[in-house]
Amino acid sequence: EVVKPTNFLRNIIESDLDKGTYARRHWGGNPGDAAHHQQGIVDPARIRTRFPPEPNGYLHIGHAKSICLNFGLARDFDGVCHLRFDDTNPEKEDQEYVDSIIESVKWLGYDWKDPDGHENLYFASDYFDFMHRCAVYLIEQGAAYVDEQSADDMKANRGDFGRPGVNSPFRDRSVAENLARFADMKSGSLPDGAAVLRAKIDMASPNINLRDPAIYRVRHAEHHNTGNRWCIYPMYTFAHPIEDALEHITHSICTLEFEDQRPFYDWLLDHLREGGLIAAPQPRQYEFSRLNLTYVITSKRKLKHLVDSGLMSGWDDPRMPTVVGLRRRGYTPESIRNFCERIGVTKDYAWIDYSTLEGCLREDLENKAHRAMVVLDPLRLTLTNWAEVFGSADHLEACSLPALPHAAEGETVPERHFTLGREVWIEREDFAEVPPKGYKRLFPGNKVRLKGGYVIECTGCEKDGDGNITKVLATVVPDTKSGTPGADSVKVKAAITWVGVQDGVEAEVRLYDRLFTDPQPDAGGKDYLALINPDSLKVVTAYVEPSLKSARQGETFQFERFGYFVADRKDHSADKPVFNRITGLKDSWGK
Ligand code: ATP
Ligand code: MG
Ligand code: MG
Repeated sequence: EVVKPTNFLRNIIESDLDKGTYARRHWGGNPGDAAHHQQGIVDPARIRTRFPPEPNGYLHIGHAKSICLNFGLARDFDGVCHLRFDDTNPEKEDQEYVDSIIESVKWLGYDWKDPDGHENLYFASDYFDFMHRCAVYLIEQGAAYVDEQSADDMKANRGDFGRPGVNSPFRDRSVAENLARFADMKSGSLPDGAAVLRAKIDMASPNINLRDPAIYRVRHAEHHNTGNRWCIYPMYTFAHPIEDALEHITHSICTLEFEDQRPFYDWLLDHLREGGLIAAPQPRQYEFSRLNLTYVITSKRKLKHLVDSGLMSGWDDPRMPTVVGLRRRGYTPESIRNFCERIGVTKDYAWIDYSTLEGCLREDLENKAHRAMVVLDPLRLTLTNWAEVFGSADHLEACSLPALPHAAEGETVPERHFTLGREVWIEREDFAEVPPKGYKRLFPGNKVRLKGGYVIECTGCEKDGDGNITKVLATVVPDTKSGTPGADSVKVKAAITWVGVQDGVEAEVRLYDRLFTDPQPDAGGKDYLALINPDSLKVVTAYVEPSLKSARQGETFQFERFGYFVADRKDHSADKPVFNRITGLKDSWGK
């Protein structure tokens, strides 16, 4: 187990644990309507974090950073991380997204259980009654009012950085009038946009988020959880702190865009605590910088467009930076967790190079993925003296190679078996009729080793009427088989990969590459759709060695010299093998 590098959040948590910030927390006395959610919570000194996705799309690699951070901190400090669906927006949310988010978090290796087994999986929409009560409380305290200005007036009167805002003509309504108007909003008698409930803070605040932010709006829309019960919905900035407080979150970690919202987060929770609506100590918000990864888009809206427009085959297209896409591409949970660990947590604006993610995958698979030989661009080669040397044209030589570079502890190195016969598939690029300078592979008069087999000597080639090479001709050099005493009797400068025509298996291989040609495809108003890499997918018919016949869906391999591949989770079968390229090898194959 590696020692985890520290970061500012770990330091904060360590200090809170030292000081006992959360040790005397008053549990169970929470008067919130959602109190039933806390019944399993009994361990006072535990830190609680949360991952709060809005179920309006699939999770992507940026979310993975937040998941690894929040669940990772909880795991490391013996705390708990909640999975909470931030579903306060009625329109865009869907059960399909809820299901896929649950599955993705589990797949990444995390769960949301308390030590006693209580499941901390919550829906913000279950707190709507309590949130409404908090809003009424603010009105009663003179800290909220119903504003009926037009949206345009409201916007204009908010002011901007250099200009203080202007008070709404509705700002000084009486408590009784506000309660009545808020009840009208709730009863459904007002159309969408006719009124909003605003917190009454300070229209001259230098922080625009404190200029009487909206906390409830009218929206006549059906909600996936609460159906048509509500026609008013809380704003995210109002809902989120309440959700955190109800769940006794200790450290509410979010991305830096929310830094300016923190004063409102504290303002609201201070009020609710003073009113006895939430328990002390209240949660605190901390911010870190979001993940920016080169060649990748992490906007759910844009990712959804790629899917809806048919440019991608689905949310799990292996080119998508979604968790389901990365999984189908062949990325492992370990590689993604290691990636998130490696990039660290800071408040700095930075771009992470995509190769960092690829490096983490290689590192994970280097000692795990079984090796195999494949031919991606097949050219037939005939060993013309085969019958003469082995007594029969049909003779097959049994060959083997290690499937892994090292043995696992207490085990022997596994082996793969295949046969060499009179005809083999080689890579088209491994033959040159006229060799370029320094070329060490097959050309007339040159000898190479068929990896794991015999040394062969090239004698020529055959062509079709257009001059295309259709077959390479060679002779086998007797007594040079790999692993036999004569193996070193003939020196060669190259060993080439190959697959036997007799036992090779035809397979579809999907050669994936980066989805975009530009490292920052959606920065600075660029048109990301115009920057899609036309070569992001190339499909070839390949021949693969017979050991791959037993590949299971989702099983990963290193195809020698080409990189890491996975048997596709949807389309692969023993009858019709399909492999996806995850990433190439670090060092490109030698010349
Ligand atoms: P989008 O803006 O694409 O809709 P979002 O941030 O609104 O994404 P949420 O479902 O609200 O999506 O995100 C859940 C959590 O994931 C939030 O806490 C958010 O801060 C975090 N998150 C989202 N994108 C990133 C990212 N690129 N890097 C780190 N954390 C992220
Ligand atoms: Mg969001
Ligand atoms: Mg967003």
